[in-house]
Amino acid sequence: MSSHTRSRTVLISGASIAGPALAYWLDRHGFDVTLVEKAPRLRGGGYPVDIRGTAMDVVDRMGLVPRLRKAHVDTRRLSFVDDAGATIAAVAPAELTAGVTEDDLEIPRGELADGLYELIRDRVEILFSDSIASLTEHPGHVDVLLRSGARRSVDLVVGADGLHSHTRGLVLGPEEQYHHYIGYCFAGFTLPARADLSREAVVWNAPGRAAVLYATAPGAPVHGFLAFRRDEPPFAAFRDPAAQRDLVADTFAGDPWEVRGLLAAMREADDLFFDVVSQIRLPAWHRGRVALVGDAAHAPSFLSGQGSSLALVGAYVLAGELATRPDHTAAFTAYEAALRGFVRSNQDYATTGGAALLPRTAEELARRNEALTNPVPARPAGADRALTTTVELPDYPGAR
Ligand SMILES: Cc1cc2nc3c(=O)[nH]c(=O)nc-3n(C[C@H](O)[C@H](O)[C@H](O)COP(=O)(O)OP(=O)(O)OC[C@H]3O[C@@H](n4cnc5c(N)ncnc54)[C@H](O)[C@@H]3O)c2cc1C
Repeated sequence: MSSHTRSRTVLISGASIAGPALAYWLDRHGFDVTLVEKAPRLRGGGYPVDIRGTAMDVVDRMGLVPRLRKAHVDTRRLSFVDDAGATIAAVAPAELTAGVTEDDLEIPRGELADGLYELIRDRVEILFSDSIASLTEHPGHVDVLLRSGARRSVDLVVGADGLHSHTRGLVLGPEEQYHHYIGYCFAGFTLPARADLSREAVVWNAPGRAAVLYATAPGAPVHGFLAFRRDEPPFAAFRDPAAQRDLVADTFAGDPWEVRGLLAAMREADDLFFDVVSQIRLPAWHRGRVALVGDAAHAPSFLSGQGSSLALVGAYVLAGELATRPDHTAAFTAYEAALRGFVRSNQDYATTGGAALLPRTAEELARRNEALTNPVPARPAGADRALTTTVELPDYPGAR
């Protein structure tokens, strides 16, 4: 634990992956932490997410690996089916995903969030159903007014509030400037377990559309996923779940395979997660006494499969730099310098990846199917591994 830090206070906005991970590391370095989450409780649900490469070292240093290994999905097969449900091709997921090895983990997002939350729930102040209303920065501190009317005066504020970060909007301006839309939207939700599916994903495509059933452990709920191409991001639908459901239902209306059942389940789901496939590319991840972590700083989009891993590594590094640098400006700068290249290579990969899941045109779909039905050459060992491991974790005192 660093001697600089004992009395420093940090308020974090957002309790999903980046926020609780940062809270954990800051607490471990001796900071006083308040975590503010807009939702009334920890949000479950979401597609399984990957923890790979350097991020595995982070969860290992948190002592989380045994717990997470129990939740590991271990997807064995990805099947691509035609309109009648007949299999066009079935492949091992590693053939389509960059840099994955047997040591990596694939965890339902809600279970990862749960695991992180368990580590901090009795150690830091957590305020649900609340969010930042305004921030006023002074020379030595930040005054935070919360929507509930509560006030906190803290040394630093960190936005861990995701792709559409409210904190970022307060300090760096409207999202449109930094938002790079990759051209797709998606809806994820859970469905009842299916006896015929486990540890596998089944994918149906039409040009510009994908419907996926993603089954984890036998008997566990199945994740439904509907993704589609759209020229403009539907900004109006972000705050309107009914509009999101209508948009998805209209887009997939009349589609074959199991799409009708998926749409019905989406209408019923209480954990619908709808978003754009987009990236955040900012010139700086901090201003004054406010910094950003995870998707708020540098969302890579789900096509990278690296959003949670980048969030975990970012949280570790940001906390470590704050604990060991003499002032927050030096710490924020060092955090950013350590991670920029890692983030950039994953963001660049994501804009070229994804073709297998979401072919845009009939020609691309035919080419994809042709490629899948021919034997896939083994990936050269280590070729993509750099994407998940190019950053080395510094050994901050107290973080081992
Ligand atoms: C319920 C849920 C389901 C998800 N499902 C998927 C999925 O299926 N596929 C996928 O690729 N990614 C999904 N994600 C996003 C994924 O978790 C992130 O890309 C990645 O893990 C990085 O996490 P993060 O903590 O930076 O951001 P996020 O996981 O987006 O978390 C942001 C957190 O901030 C909270 N928040 C937002 N605004 C405010 C505010 N104004 N004040 C306080 N809190 C606020 C949110 O409720 C959320 O808990 C999901 C996220 C959530 C919250």
